[in-house]
Amino acid sequence: MHDVTVHLGRYLRLDDNPLLVAATETHDRLLPVFALDPAVRRGVHQEAFLLASLADLQQALRARGSDLLLLREAPPADMRDRYECPMRMIADADLPFSPSAMPRTYTPFRQRVEAAGTRFTAPVPCPERLPPLPEGTACPTIDVPAVPLIAPGGASAGLAHWRQYRDRRLPDTYKQTRNDLLGWDASSKLSLWLAWGCLSPRRIALDLAEYEQAYGANEGTYWLWFELLWRDFFALRADQRGEDGGGIDADDPRWQDLAAARLGHPLVDAGLRELNATGFLGNRMRQIVASSLIHERGWPWAIGAAYFAAQLIDHDPASNIGNWRYIAGQGADPRGGRHFNVEKQREMYDPANAYARHWGGD
Ligand SMILES: Cc1cc2nc3c(=O)[nH]c(=O)nc-3n(C[C@H](O)[C@H](O)[C@H](O)COP(=O)(O)OP(=O)(O)OC[C@H]3O[C@@H](n4cnc5c(N)ncnc54)[C@H](O)[C@@H]3O)c2cc1C
Repeated sequence: MHDVTVHLGRYLRLDDNPLLVAATETHDRLLPVFALDPAVRRGVHQEAFLLASLADLQQALRARGSDLLLLREAPPADMRDRYECPMRMIADADLPFSPSAMPRTYTPFRQRVEAAGTRFTAPVPCPERLPPLPEGTACPTIDVPAVPLIAPGGASAGLAHWRQYRDRRLPDTYKQTRNDLLGWDASSKLSLWLAWGCLSPRRIALDLAEYEQAYGANEGTYWLWFELLWRDFFALRADQRGEDGGGIDADDPRWQDLAAARLGHPLVDAGLRELNATGFLGNRMRQIVASSLIHERGWPWAIGAAYFAAQLIDHDPASNIGNWRYIAGQGADPRGGRHFNVEKQREMYDPANAYARHWGGD
């Protein structure tokens, strides 16, 4: 029994945190740390959300006799996974195949998981008390920049958000509303907190299963799980490819066009304006923007992916790269790419130009 330093990476919560459970069982003194790499390019919204999440975690740790040390340096190389990969809904041990033998496309992957009756891995509770800090360690209080955010960072806000979403019975209508371009309630917004591990996907999945028991399963509750499984799929695929985001070019001059939202189509430019103003974009608009850059402008997918990685509050390397590659026709898509005709998408999802007008286009 001795002191241990635990890099929390994308596990910014007390609930269902196997890192804290293991350290508590094996050590007398524990120093939780987070290394915020100053070399990583982050938009203001992403940075503010992350710092708010760290400050929230620091308060929660202090309430249990611990604390959080924020380091302004790159994480150690052997901790990289922890900083890049948030937890999956289904652990390796509960998958019906070994990760290295997983189906390469989503539908057979999902079918195998469903046939095995696997929905999620059970979450673990947080220890009541955490070991004290190593002697002589001091953790300065984490400052949060005053940047207006679409939602507050941190596990407490994430849990409160999920509970109100659930209690208002919004999972029931999820499938019908998830592609709407406007409206906070259109989709769950869980990605904001899932990406940094402020929320555990296993806790969400367990709550969703209990919700189904209480109110009945329906298309909406199934589809929410189905989308969470996409997140697992991309995380596993990234592991298999050993994907590290390499080749992503953060200094390409075409970034200026993205930052100025100057691509030339009112819907695409409106999407970029929303992303730049808020650090968020719904799934449908992410698809439209990505398809337009790749298939209409002929840009390498990695340029848009790097821009999203910096701007999105919910940036998750596996989901980001997996989705960009999918639209580009690499990796997970057996059909050789997704080319969305922007004009048709506009007719379907923004027929009255309400979204484009809202974000200053038209
Ligand atoms: C080009 C592109 C880049 C993307 N980059 C990211 C990213 O960096 N981080 C990220 O979390 N998601 C990414 N996505 C996936 C998806 O757009 C977001 O997860 C979703 O829009 C987040 O909003 P929500 O929580 O309201 O989603 P909901 O529709 O409410 O979905 C519920 C949850 O399911 C998961 N999910 C839904 N769709 C997908 C998907 N296509 N792939 C993986 N998981 C999904 C997310 O965890 C999401 O929170 C990307 C999609 C595209 C097309």
